[in-house]
Amino acid sequence: MYGLEMKLWLTATLWFSVTATSKVLRLQSRSQLTLKKIVSDPTCEVCGLHEETQSHIFYHCDMAAQFWSRMAMNVPSDPTNLLSWNRPASVAQEGFSSFVALCHWQLWKARNEKVFRQCTTGVQQILRQCSAVSVQWEARLPPSKRHVVQAWGQLFEAARQGEG
Ligand SMILES: [Zn+2]
Repeated sequence: MYGLEMKLWLTATLWFSVTATSKVLRLQSRSQLTLKKIVSDPTCEVCGLHEETQSHIFYHCDMAAQFWSRMAMNVPSDPTNLLSWNRPASVAQEGFSSFVALCHWQLWKARNEKVFRQCTTGVQQILRQCSAVSVQWEARLPPSKRHVVQAWGQLFEAARQGEG
């Protein structure tokens, strides 16, 4: 019965644990690709200003930094340690890893949209997408768990309407 919801949940959390937080497996950042001589320029294709490392992609590139700022979440010195993240008051401990995973997943998707499809994705759009995914997940959860993800959606919406 909850097969699909589990699948969605797993997609995001597995993706996060395997790529974003892994110290062993690395995302194919331009910095990594330059080391492997696959590309010659490690400069970030989104901002064009800095070397595109994994932490640049998720935390320091303008788009990512704006995202976390709008979410009022400070990026910890070791983002791979989930316990070091400041959990927003409205986000339950239960499912927090999935919440963080969802944020990273959408940042990664937005970057790919921009790099591969030349789509302009701003922080507003990322927040809207996070909110939309929350609504989809919520609908697939058992009623007793829906409030958890509903709170995420409200937080993304509040962040989206916060500025601009
Ligand atoms: Zn950048």
